Amino acid sequence: MRLILLGPPGAGKGTQAQRLVERHEIVQLSTGDMLRAAVAAGTEVGLKAKAIMDAGGLVPDDVVVGIIKDRIEKADAQNGFILDGFPRTVGQAEALDKMLKEKGLQLDAVVELKVDEGILLSRIEKRAGETPGGPRADDNAEALKKRLAVYKEQTAPLVDHFRSKGLLKTVDGMKGIDEVSKAIDAALGV
Ligand code: ADP
Repeated sequence: MRLILLGPPGAGKGTQAQRLVERHEIVQLSTGDMLRAAVAAGTEVGLKAKAIMDAGGLVPDDVVVGIIKDRIEKADAQNGFILDGFPRTVGQAEALDKMLKEKGLQLDAVVELKVDEGILLSRIEKRAGETPGGPRADDNAEALKKRLAVYKEQTAPLVDHFRSKGLLKTVDGMKGIDEVSKAIDAALGV
């Protein structure tokens, strides 16, 4: 199974991706996690990405596309994957299309987690308080404002992009974690 999870920061993509991983023996490919690992390791990519991420901006398309391309080729991704936080721009979506076509692979679905904007700040603040080792540098009100603006401008257009391809499944992300998981399964027919 090859899926994309789409939704604003705080929508619950990471939480739901982990649950799908456990149930379907596929890997979660989170560009946010991979970039944070690169920052922590002090790699060239990490050095480039840190200030952009901390401010809530988007890392350049070529950087994240390169990361995903390498990752999709690894053995553990052959059974399927969930993309969490990628694609985030129309350019990234087009690069992904091309990448999959070249490999003869197809997406099964794009799951949109729909949430009211008003709940996001409190979710992010909750996560900031629960993160082991201290909150992420971008889990604060100011960076969230920027991340939301970027989401609306650059990522939200992907909803229509994937709808027009017949891949979009929209799920109510305002419910509890278990209920959202069930709704995702129902939408996927699994
Ligand atoms: P969230 O979904 O909570 O906003 P992520 O962990 O997915 O957080 O991403 C954190 C940050 O990492 C983003 O704000 C951005 O700076 C960077 N990032 C992650 N994925 C991408 C991507 N596909 N394209 C560009 N930047 C990305």
